[in-house]
Amino acid sequence: MIRYLLPKVGNYYKANLHSHSILSDGRKTPEEMKAVYKAHGYSVLAITDHEYMVQHNDLTEDDFLMLNGYEAYIKETNDPLYKRFMKTVHLNLIAKDPTVNKHIMVDPNYMKYALVHNNGTVNNLPRVGEPCVRQYTVGDVNRYIRLANENGYYVVYNHPCWSREVPSVITQYQGMLGIEVYNHGVLREGYSGDDARVYDEFLRAGRRMFAFANDDNHNKFPDDSPITDSFGGFNMIKAEKLDYPTIIAAIMRGDLYCSNGPLIDDLWLDDHTVHLTCPDAREAFLVTEGRTNSNGRRGSIKAAKGENLSHITFDLLPDDGYFRIEIIDHEGYKAFTRAYFLEDIFG
Ligand SMILES: [Zn+2]
Ligand SMILES: [Zn+2]
Repeated sequence: MIRYLLPKVGNYYKANLHSHSILSDGRKTPEEMKAVYKAHGYSVLAITDHEYMVQHNDLTEDDFLMLNGYEAYIKETNDPLYKRFMKTVHLNLIAKDPTVNKHIMVDPNYMKYALVHNNGTVNNLPRVGEPCVRQYTVGDVNRYIRLANENGYYVVYNHPCWSREVPSVITQYQGMLGIEVYNHGVLREGYSGDDARVYDEFLRAGRRMFAFANDDNHNKFPDDSPITDSFGGFNMIKAEKLDYPTIIAAIMRGDLYCSNGPLIDDLWLDDHTVHLTCPDAREAFLVTEGRTNSNGRRGSIKAAKGENLSHITFDLLPDDGYFRIEIIDHEGYKAFTRAYFLEDIFG
């Protein structure tokens, strides 16, 4: 029996779902960001300024969709001397409906950009509840996520390597739709940007979460610079058409993969064999809940020198728990499927 893990019908829409404009600490206007992402083949952009929810529905066109959202955070400390070492959580909130505009758990200590644009006060910002003081505790983070979900957002855990949080804490966070397995912006911090290992921490704690790759661009360098933070991490959303509700529904179903380079065509199961087709890969990896090399199965496949993988298969074992696939192209760039739990597929 064939089961399509990415929908058989529909189009792929390229999306950057985490970015910053001049409304916070980015360098481009929302109009400039839309124009340059559209010119680079993207169909979807979410401008997620720091602690400042601004709708950009007026920039949406028939062939380009703006999703609304913002990036929220809770920090261990405000002590500037400790800033480099503090643990912090950054959450991407994406509005599931273009009318959503409320700020969650408004804390003026976090909202300097919103204050700049609102005469020094948060009193007139659309918000849920009264202003409060956020604490870096599992309880406050979970309260934030719950209120965001209840008020029309989905929530993604951003750039784990940059945030310096520890797995024993973050796996207590509940209710997030996904995690950034790749954040292009943290390359300037000396990381490769690849956080898939933290994704497995969540999955092995039983969290059903999807994988996202985003730019987190602030555009402090020219677009054609080798160190631009644009056009690195992207999501390919498969959907029947390009409009707000259809794209959000596809994201909420997990009808997407993410990448910083290679593309994936199709992904399906034929009984307990997973198939992945792609234009070009050098290596493929199967990641499961337990160790993958088992019963003679190998967890990776590599193309012979000068050759190319275009149809990859792995056999699943009944106790795999979940599985996900990564492929690497000949230049070393990587694509990630989301995780699929066997229990959800086979019962
Ligand atoms: Zn961040
Ligand atoms: Zn960011």
